Amino acid sequence: MSNTDTYIEQTFEWWLEEFKPITNHLDDNASFQNEDDEGIMFETFGEELDFVAEQDPRCIWTYHHGEENSTYIANGFNIVNRLGYFITEIPFEENQIIDIVVEEPNYLCPNCEEQHWGAAGELHYEKFGDLEKCVACATMEELKEIENESANAN
Ligand SMILES: [Zn+2]
Repeated sequence: MSNTDTYIEQTFEWWLEEFKPITNHLDDNASFQNEDDEGIMFETFGEELDFVAEQDPRCIWTYHHGEENSTYIANGFNIVNRLGYFITEIPFEENQIIDIVVEEPNYLCPNCEEQHWGAAGELHYEKFGDLEKCVACATMEELKEIENESANAN
């Protein structure tokens, strides 16, 4: 990152307005569908990837995994942790580093698939991570166990 770089962290809605992603004409079932059931995400393989690679590099965005089950859209073509790509009508500036939060960090319970967000999510990683359960599906005994561990730690 140089002195002239501008870092922007914004919402998905802001990004839609600002950069206007094009719809994926290659797949009727593309992810991230708008009101007209047209998806905007492109896959990371095959003809969809070929199409992405042909676009102006300043109009390509990467959908990727972040920490703690979060997902982000970052400007540019990236490989690491990628989930898909977007192409926008409006190009970003060379010196912009843009992070669009799609899914906030959260704890997705491996057992019952309930999602716990924000501070509750953080707490779940700490207390329930090893158990691979959450407050909704842990047994009474397991909850007591966790309480005891917390009490001992303090
Ligand atoms: Zn659970």
